Amino acid sequence: MIRVGSGFDVHAFGPGDHVMLGGLRVPHEAGVIAHSDGDVLLHALTDAVLGAGGLGDIGKYFADSDPRWRGAPSGQFLRHAVSLLKQDGYRVINADLTLLCEAPRLAAHRAAIRESIATLLGVAVDAVNLKATTTEKMGFLGRREGIAAAAVVLIERH
Ligand code: MG
Repeated sequence: MIRVGSGFDVHAFGPGDHVMLGGLRVPHEAGVIAHSDGDVLLHALTDAVLGAGGLGDIGKYFADSDPRWRGAPSGQFLRHAVSLLKQDGYRVINADLTLLCEAPRLAAHRAAIRESIATLLGVAVDAVNLKATTTEKMGFLGRREGIAAAAVVLIERH
């Protein structure tokens, strides 16, 4: 059986000099306001993994009111979601992610982020695709008020 899942996440920019993207620190003119490390790519992807498995959403396991997750590296959220899939006999086939923002630019970091995400998912790098788009300067993303990500994951069980 194969199943698909989708995820979406947004964080507002705030004080700071970097954003976490796919587990990597990317220099930026701002940071993000978040309870955890605010990694939008990993939050969207964790929701996609949980969605594919019919396992709810990230807030069910890692509530943003829980002091245990203050400043937490979001890779641990994704690893936990993947471990839940494995318990149900599933493996990840591929993931496709889209980063939505005016800045930072993804190009210089794309390869490293793909590798980081592939490692977290336990798949080959070519099973992870990473795209970026702007919103043509429209809306809160276009005004550089924050950063968003969308993710789709396909899983299978024999
Ligand atoms: Mg989030």
